Amino acid sequence: MKIPEHGMISLRARHRMVQEQLETQGIQDPRVLAAMREIHRHLFVEEALASRAYSDENLPIGAGQTLSQPLTVARMTQALRLTGNEECLEIGTGSGYQTAILARLCRKVYTIERLTGLADASRKRLRLLGLHNIVCRQGDGSLGWPEERPFDRILVTAGTPVTPENLIRQLGPNGILVAPEGSKNAQNLIRVTRQEDGSIRKETLDPCCFVPLIGAQGWQNEAP
Ligand code: SAH
Repeated sequence: MKIPEHGMISLRARHRMVQEQLETQGIQDPRVLAAMREIHRHLFVEEALASRAYSDENLPIGAGQTLSQPLTVARMTQALRLTGNEECLEIGTGSGYQTAILARLCRKVYTIERLTGLADASRKRLRLLGLHNIVCRQGDGSLGWPEERPFDRILVTAGTPVTPENLIRQLGPNGILVAPEGSKNAQNLIRVTRQEDGSIRKETLDPCCFVPLIGAQGWQNEAP
């Protein structure tokens, strides 16, 4: 029997992931589905975890942090309503998987990671993958990236007690921010939209569970 190359296995696994975990769960945006078919999720985790990369689960990425399950990544991305022209700010680079998905779907991604080890590793990984419309930085993303404001989209991939005002202020006209908001153990995905007249509209989307956003405008420390 001929053993298929890993590339083929991964292609099939990605297509199956999209079909079974996303299309059946309300992910309909064709651009989001295409990006999730295209980006190799197994390259964003340790080799020992690669065989689980396309299953419906969170995966550890070191330093007590996690890469969200595919459905959560897809839901957040779909909620941003990206058309391809946006400048997007992401808080919580982690492995860089979500960053890579965003980079396929918008013009430019600015991404901030608090932990130096993860920030360095994801910067290297994204460069090796040839994704050049990404600017990575290490720091406290709860304060946003004031020098580059305003952003068309902001995505927070760590849980916050309340969405930082600093981030909402850095949202441009008709901008959309998506963030997990709630307690340390359970949050709801919320979407904040800056309307034509400058006012803010807030919607509650799906329940979710993220590691905490730790910083000046997030949780103050790592204790439970
Ligand atoms: N989106 C990531 C996973 C996010 S896990 C991926 O696709 O892999 C959440 C990440 O947010 C962790 O890496 C954590 O270190 C980071 N984080 C927590 N607080 C932060 C802050 N204030 N600023 C930037 N990153 C932060």
